[in-house]
Amino acid sequence: MKLCFNQGSCDHCPNHSMMADLEAAEKYGFDYIDLRFDVLDEYLKDHTAEELADWFNTHHLKPSSYSGLLFFNWKRTEEEKQKVFDELARLIPIFDTIGLKTIACIPSCGIEEHASVSEIKADAVEMLNKMADMCEPHGISLALEFIGSGNFTINQLNVANDIVNTVNRDSVGLAIDVFHFYANGSRVEDFAKVDGRKIVNLHLNSAEDLPIGAPYFDDSKRLWPGDGCVDDQALTDAIKACGFDTEAIPAAIEVFRPEYYELTVDENVKTSYEKTKAYVEKYFS
Ligand code: ZN
Repeated sequence: MKLCFNQGSCDHCPNHSMMADLEAAEKYGFDYIDLRFDVLDEYLKDHTAEELADWFNTHHLKPSSYSGLLFFNWKRTEEEKQKVFDELARLIPIFDTIGLKTIACIPSCGIEEHASVSEIKADAVEMLNKMADMCEPHGISLALEFIGSGNFTINQLNVANDIVNTVNRDSVGLAIDVFHFYANGSRVEDFAKVDGRKIVNLHLNSAEDLPIGAPYFDDSKRLWPGDGCVDDQALTDAIKACGFDTEAIPAAIEVFRPEYYELTVDENVKTSYEKTKAYVEKYFS
């Protein structure tokens, strides 16, 4: 299984930059990197996408996913929807240039309306279809990432899976993030309804032993993969059983823990690689 480093894991480390992250991920043996939205924007202030493409063309490390397109759904006006499509239109040529093929799509949070699950599903299906119309000609896929927090509109595996199945396009799949799976009570049994070939992003991490759904159970409570209280054996067994393609989809480490940000980029990436490799060897080989 290929190993991937999500740049969000080190983007508050003291000496972090696009180049520092790329060089460290290459040095310690990662195959892929997931590019963080704000790091890419910062980089492109002083550089071009062609420069980034040149770097990838001369190194082993390759871009995997964009992490991510924020708050794509539940836009209440045509103007707000158009802003999502405009952002996608801005990003697609960059991804074409650097060879990035998957976009993680993050649902909206903190909405004013008391929207029902069925209303949220219908809206997300419509948005993802329109976004896929834009991405498919470029060979770019969308990964719907449910966020394990009560504040988010799509926050459990079964809901995200229903949306992806309703969209029913090869270019629209699921992102499975271990923390989000655990922190809002998604169940291993929910994978029985998942077509594993539709899992296009796998985000590895773990979680502290906190009450499911607690408002303080946020991204800062993430731990290195295997270090928390997730039942990794049951989870990875379920992911494998539903047909997840371990050859095609890399294992991407994604932790956002403040104390890991105190490490240098080098220390952070080195530990990330060791933790990801050990996890994959234990559960996916
Ligand atoms: Zn994630």
